[in-house]
Amino acid sequence: MSENTCTVGIDLGGTNVVFGLVTARGELLQHFSRPTEGERGPARVIENILEGTEEIISHAEAYRVNGIGLGSPGVIDSGSGVVLHCAPNIPQWSGQQIRQPLLERFGLPVFVDNDAKMAVIGEATFGAGAGKKHLLVVTLGTGIGGGVVLNGRIHRGAYFCAGEIGHAVVQIGGRRCACGVEGHLEAYLSAKGLVGQVKEKLAGGGTSVLTGQTGGDLSRLEAKMIVDAAKAGDKLAGEVLELSAHYLGMALANFAMVFDPEIMIISGGIALAGEILFDPVQRAYDRYIFYTEVRKAPIVPAKLGFEAGMVGAAAMAILELKLS
Ligand SMILES: [Zn+2]
Repeated sequence: MSENTCTVGIDLGGTNVVFGLVTARGELLQHFSRPTEGERGPARVIENILEGTEEIISHAEAYRVNGIGLGSPGVIDSGSGVVLHCAPNIPQWSGQQIRQPLLERFGLPVFVDNDAKMAVIGEATFGAGAGKKHLLVVTLGTGIGGGVVLNGRIHRGAYFCAGEIGHAVVQIGGRRCACGVEGHLEAYLSAKGLVGQVKEKLAGGGTSVLTGQTGGDLSRLEAKMIVDAAKAGDKLAGEVLELSAHYLGMALANFAMVFDPEIMIISGGIALAGEILFDPVQRAYDRYIFYTEVRKAPIVPAKLGFEAGMVGAAAMAILELKLS
């Protein structure tokens, strides 16, 4: 691939669509976002994607645009370009053909996949995983997502479920996960899980500075407040974070024995917590991991931020173009 080519990356979110131009070396030449307008129906969303793509391509200047990558919420059939199943953050998005309109308008190769998978590819290719072939990415957000990269390619699995690390079981009869099952990792270390645990401890008579900080209105409690309280020495917040981080380390030890990764990357807002998160994760990992060599695989924070999904969509296109 020539140094003078660049690739369009598009990250479709429930609120905004992020567009970017990425070079083969991962440099971000241009980027902007525009509203998704999902409430105006799928045809409007497609039109917004097409208009934004046209605009970003007009910024390519001396670079030749060689392809387009698009990440979308939902389960995506990357072969046919159809959204198989989508949560209601973009109404009527299920069943939508998302590749064909771009293909017809621009006549460039178009690659589509799930937005979280694209973010994993971005982090693996141009972030903390650059140069590594086998890696795990865990994204700590409202829920917990993630992905597995094997031999430099995302592993999708037979039912597009590979990398759903948040639904690993970490506690018999534990807290109920958003998916309805008991004891999943997401019920602990996600933003929702941390907040839920603190609320339960306070309801059970525990005391914390968080009661005062929320003015007694726990609906205002956020994960970042819990992390900050733990850093400031609040015992209740510290215990919740430590236990939840311990469960992540335990889950990583399990996954490491299945996938044998070179590196494990933790992304998302909670990953910004630093040592107070990473120390107990590492301690638990060291405690449960079996084989000495795998013990050396580092557990590190992600390097990319908001742009991971868009850069990843471009990275996926770059990768597929190289292979084709
Ligand atoms: Zn679950």
